[in-house]
Amino acid sequence: MSKHIDLAIIGAGIGGVSSAVYAARSGLNCMLFEGNAIGGQLLFMENIDNYIGLKMGTKGRDLAKTLEETVKGLKINIVNESISKIDISDRLVQLSLDDSLYVAKGVIAATGASFKKLGVEGEAQFLGRGVSYCAVCDGFFFKGKDVCVVGGGNTAVEEALYLSDIARKVYLVHRRDELRAMGYLQKELFEKKNIEVIFDSIIHKIDGGEFLNRLSIENTKTGRLSSLEVNGLFVAVGVRPNTDIFKDIISMDDNGFILTDEHMKSSYDCIWACGDCRKRPLKQLITAAAEGAVAALSAYKYLKGYYISS
Ligand SMILES: Cc1cc2nc3c(=O)[nH]c(=O)nc-3n(C[C@H](O)[C@H](O)[C@H](O)COP(=O)(O)OP(=O)(O)OC[C@H]3O[C@@H](n4cnc5c(N)ncnc54)[C@H](O)[C@@H]3O)c2cc1C
Repeated sequence: MSKHIDLAIIGAGIGGVSSAVYAARSGLNCMLFEGNAIGGQLLFMENIDNYIGLKMGTKGRDLAKTLEETVKGLKINIVNESISKIDISDRLVQLSLDDSLYVAKGVIAATGASFKKLGVEGEAQFLGRGVSYCAVCDGFFFKGKDVCVVGGGNTAVEEALYLSDIARKVYLVHRRDELRAMGYLQKELFEKKNIEVIFDSIIHKIDGGEFLNRLSIENTKTGRLSSLEVNGLFVAVGVRPNTDIFKDIISMDDNGFILTDEHMKSSYDCIWACGDCRKRPLKQLITAAAEGAVAALSAYKYLKGYYISS
């Protein structure tokens, strides 16, 4: 038998929890669905140094714990299961779990995104101990050190440029013989004295002791392996939004990020999105939390029949 609710929030990262707080406080009958654990990407984060109002050096896990306490404190209903499928009929959304079905009048997608991994040996082992997926977040820890960025698109070049002002030396490893990044970015990159581009190469293995200190690099043309001594590896080979369940239901960009208006409303009236699963210019905690609040307010107004002017 299906359970009926007003609002389903899918994902309990900071975006989803923020939505749930605003929805619960507005009196909506909402349910938070989380396939893993409360906190989302916070659980992979070492220190948080750029979340305004939060003490510098706060651990990602500690903020995740606070979110969990908030959910409990507000008595927000949470289901610890993944939503595997979504169907829409008559402006109602059916959410399928392994062995149950929920029907909601509205849904907030807060399913986040996952950084594409290299899939090489040592990547998981040195995550947070040299391996990072975010230069803006972690670059600070590599002041005066040698780092490597892997990737060849705009993000990789932007990461390398950002790191070149912090690190002593930045290597940019790219698997092809030319970069995909925009011309103006490449121009800036090649003008930087402390950036060296290593073409036709991939990361073969990530090595070290307690922290990363060495990369094994493979030349894609010759197959030859060489060693690169660095303290950090920034993986910038793209991100993948967790939006498969919304495919063919709401509009997305070519990379699968959900398109919304400024009220976080998707192309379908009763579905909103917030955080890393939506197309947005800055993928950070603070923006995900803010968008979560906006999405909940929009859902509240829609469910109460109020008009939202744009
Ligand atoms: C290593 C690392 C360091 C970072 N450092 C910083 C930093 O210092 N400062 C900063 O501001 N930002 C940082 N970021 C970025 C920041 O973490 C993200 O922008 C933010 O966490 C996005 O939050 P979110 O709620 O949108 O998504 P997420 O945190 O990704 O949460 C999405 C949640 O949805 C769940 N979910 C997905 N699909 C389903 C489904 N079908 N059913 C149920 N649940 C589902 C997932 O399990 C997950 O818990 C960092 C990210 C990483 C990975």
